[in-house]
Amino acid sequence: MLLTQRILELMKMSINIKDIRRVVIKVGSSTLTGKAGANLDPKAIDDLVDVVAKLKSSNKEVIVVSSGAIAAGLAPLGLTARPSDLTSQQAAASVGQGLLMARYTQSFNRFKITTSQILITLEDITKETHVANIKGVLNSLLKQGVVPIINENDTVGTEEIKYGDNDGLAARVTKLINADLLVLITDIDGLYDANPSTPGAKQINLVSDISKIDTSSLGGAGSAGVGSGGMITKIEAAKVVTSAGIGMLLTRISDLTSALDGKQVGTYFLPNS
Ligand code: GLU
Repeated sequence: MLLTQRILELMKMSINIKDIRRVVIKVGSSTLTGKAGANLDPKAIDDLVDVVAKLKSSNKEVIVVSSGAIAAGLAPLGLTARPSDLTSQQAAASVGQGLLMARYTQSFNRFKITTSQILITLEDITKETHVANIKGVLNSLLKQGVVPIINENDTVGTEEIKYGDNDGLAARVTKLINADLLVLITDIDGLYDANPSTPGAKQINLVSDISKIDTSSLGGAGSAGVGSGGMITKIEAAKVVTSAGIGMLLTRISDLTSALDGKQVGTYFLPNS
């Protein structure tokens, strides 16, 4: 590697929050449900909202991409675990989406921050008129100080239920609205060079060349059994944003503030120059 290239890389190694104007934060079902799995954990939502409020108070624009609709819909339907068939999952999401938004609204109210609900599918992002509308609405909401909360429209879209838990959706939204950073909240403290339960697995703080990541040994969906993502969909998301010149951070909620302060926690994927 050329020396100048290496110097440039070192300069970009951690996040400089001052340079960040617009950030997308994605949180998955297993983070929002804690250990119980079948119910929203109000504390997890409050913890996330606390960080978002802090970012807003320093004039950052924040968009939240949140799963949790299926998980929130389980208990009202008398279910204790995520159903295996797609239609029942979509029905649970339909019950849970309103409950999820109610919980966010309540939590953001503590800071007098207005939220909005946006439901889209990955397919919408391939349609020119839909993209223009999504961009227009998001920009208008951000200008008015609102925190938009995006989820997949689960009744019509099934991609993220099947294998994304909104990782792919978050990456595409980040690119579409020219955000400066995508944050994917995970249950573990970052990316490891092997499945983290393997003895000797080491955490990776910085990824400068995503093509070198060996995805074959990485973990699957979240620990509570209510999500559908995993490390592989997170790496795919990183490919989408970094190739568009946007950095991506993988971190636990509890480490998010430190990571945004430039500390070496979580895993930061450098944008391609
Ligand atoms: N849209 C889904 C939800 O809110 C996300 C996908 C998933 O959880 O697998 O639950």
